[in-house]
Amino acid sequence: MNWAKVELHLHLDGSLNLPWAYQTALKRGVIDSSMSFAEYYTLMYKNDYPTREERMKKFEFPCAVMQEKEDLSDSIYYLAEHLNELGLVYAEIRFAPQQHQLAGLSQKEAILAVVDGIVRAEQDFPDLTVRLINCLMHKGSDASFNMKENLETVEATRETLGKYVVALDLAGYENTGEFIKYAPLFEKAREYGIPYTIHAGEMGDGSHVLDALKMKAYRIGHGINCVDRPEWVKAMADSQIPMEVCVSSNVGDLRHYAAHPVRKMLEAGCKVTLNSDNMMFSRTNIVNEHLQMKSLGISDDILKQCTKNAVEAAFCDEATKKGILKRLGL
Ligand SMILES: [Zn+2]
Repeated sequence: MNWAKVELHLHLDGSLNLPWAYQTALKRGVIDSSMSFAEYYTLMYKNDYPTREERMKKFEFPCAVMQEKEDLSDSIYYLAEHLNELGLVYAEIRFAPQQHQLAGLSQKEAILAVVDGIVRAEQDFPDLTVRLINCLMHKGSDASFNMKENLETVEATRETLGKYVVALDLAGYENTGEFIKYAPLFEKAREYGIPYTIHAGEMGDGSHVLDALKMKAYRIGHGINCVDRPEWVKAMADSQIPMEVCVSSNVGDLRHYAAHPVRKMLEAGCKVTLNSDNMMFSRTNIVNEHLQMKSLGISDDILKQCTKNAVEAAFCDEATKKGILKRLGL
């Protein structure tokens, strides 16, 4: 299992250090001072939402403690500390700058605050490389609803693109509205030389992977519903576009790993990478993801190949990739 050390799909707000989040919520007055850690924990893990859209609202709790520069910086620093303890060598962490403007920060300021945390982590945890992906948000049936904010994210990413900020993503309510309407944002990203991944075929229709391919995604987040039709999964396999599969996140509290489409995707020849998505909400990490796959009978060779796929699909520079492959013996 010494290869389970690379993450490409990890949401900052869904992967917070919970004791830190609790202390920050108290400090910022986000929760009542009488609330205990146990009560905060229960609130964070509430899971009886009537719909998946409602369930997405749980991300408002962690976002509430990530509105000040200092808190944004600390949030990623403590996540990096955890990843370092797990022995990770590389992680791409993502966040949506437009969700962190309640205290008046511009999107660029929010990005730079997170980068500050990465720089501090780099000094304290030199064995771990962290890179940042900025998420555009899909907020409902009408893509124009937050087009202004999404355009700002593209521009702020252009301005900060470099060693630490490496790509864009589209996250949020995938199952409403016409997915392809986000295409102009990615055309702009291409024009600016910003690579991007797109959440597609996770909560929404499997055909969204075809839309993501049309939008020339460099990688696809989840993509699991492509198995609903043979032609969709074949299109993914033929494209060899890396897929960021997050098994625990998809199986939820039922933990029915054997029913997850990952095996079908592997059998079809899709370029699979394994990821945690939301370490806090899904109570998982990359080591656990690999262990769960082993419990399904997926061989070490295939699991190693998934990590190799992840390194090769990473948005960092080629020298960093080579170094990681060497360190992991892949
Ligand atoms: Zn995700």
